[in-house]
Amino acid sequence: MSYLKQADPELYDVMVRETERQAHKVVLIASENFVSEAVLEANGGVMTNKYAEGYPGKRYYGGCEWVDAAENLARDRAKQLFGCEHVNVQPHSGSQANMAVYFTALKPGDKVMGLALAHGGHLTHGHPINFSGFLYNFVGYEVDRETEVINYDHLLDQAREFQPRMIVSGASAYPRFFDFEAIRRACDAVGAYMMVDIAHIAGLVAAGLHPSPIPFADFVTTTTHKTLRGPRGGMIMCKEKYAADLDRMVMPGIQGGPLMHTIAAKAVAFKEALTPEYKDYQRRIIENAKALAEALKKLGYRLVAGGTDTHLMLVSFVGQEGMTGKKAENALDKAGIVVNKNTVPFDPEKPFVTSGIRLGTPAVTTRGMKPGDMTTIAGFIDRAIKNRKSDEALAAIAKEVADFSKRFPLYEERLKGA
Ligand SMILES: *Cc1c(COP(=O)(O)O)cnc(C)c1O
Repeated sequence: MSYLKQADPELYDVMVRETERQAHKVVLIASENFVSEAVLEANGGVMTNKYAEGYPGKRYYGGCEWVDAAENLARDRAKQLFGCEHVNVQPHSGSQANMAVYFTALKPGDKVMGLALAHGGHLTHGHPINFSGFLYNFVGYEVDRETEVINYDHLLDQAREFQPRMIVSGASAYPRFFDFEAIRRACDAVGAYMMVDIAHIAGLVAAGLHPSPIPFADFVTTTTHKTLRGPRGGMIMCKEKYAADLDRMVMPGIQGGPLMHTIAAKAVAFKEALTPEYKDYQRRIIENAKALAEALKKLGYRLVAGGTDTHLMLVSFVGQEGMTGKKAENALDKAGIVVNKNTVPFDPEKPFVTSGIRLGTPAVTTRGMKPGDMTTIAGFIDRAIKNRKSDEALAAIAKEVADFSKRFPLYEERLKGA
């Protein structure tokens, strides 16, 4: 370090501040993680310079021999990791992975079912303000009001009634396991494609800790940067019979040149994911999530669906006079704990206010925190929420949180040199 410091001190300073923020706060955003130095190195490497439209061995540009090697490593490792027939590692993001599948399998106006956003689904699963909602006739399925989990009999009934071309499952804020076998049955009953978006749970699936959709689904999409702990990007897996159509839809259908530096970093992350240490890491994510959930419940908080099977949970403030997700997010940020407000099922508040917060343990687990530390964090959360009206009290908690965080070093080398 550091060319950047010399070339652009202003931006360099911003980067140092962001590194400090990541290292000194407690990040409980369920979709975030901290990648390894090796992944960062690949992602910041010279492959950013290369145009490589096409696929390994079939490019529109010369000079692709080494990026071909990188993409082949990424593809082979992804196949080994998930046991899929075909993979495309080029989508720039999770949203573009989903777009590629819809464009491959559907025509504008087709009927599709997806988990409603307000019940844990994603914008790209048919929300009216997203391209998926503009182009397709989506109806949302919802969780059961009592159990707050998906009722697969109701999903089947709804599918019979609506007759969709595709059923999309997977979620951004759903704390329980999905039953992919039951969803396959619903798809078969109406002749629908089955697409599963495992953006959130990909790391758990890779480690065999969440049931895999691969045997059941026609298409499986994911991001690579959430529990999976790779660089920011997307990926699509599918049955061999869709491979050629899907690849053509990713490029030239919806994308131009692939981000070869990011594909190289995906290869590095997949190698990490094939190790026994990674399996243990994923196991500890769930162990920590369960510990955090239990500690919060003991402190009197209500969790949607009663807790978690995965890396995330939703705390609901419904029925607590004057309390909202927005207020909790703000208070916690001032106390050094980063979370996001989140709608809960049947939420009476608007999406910018909400009645809940979403908490996840992938990032804190990467830092080496253990179940006992989750109890400490639950205590910080409770104090911050109770003292939300006192900036002084929140600043005092933030100090304690920073001291606590420093026990779990992150990107130390980078901060040392800064
Ligand atoms: C995060 C997420 C995405 C989108 O990923 P981006 O890379 O932000 O476009 C898609 N689907 C689900 C379920 C997600 O959680």
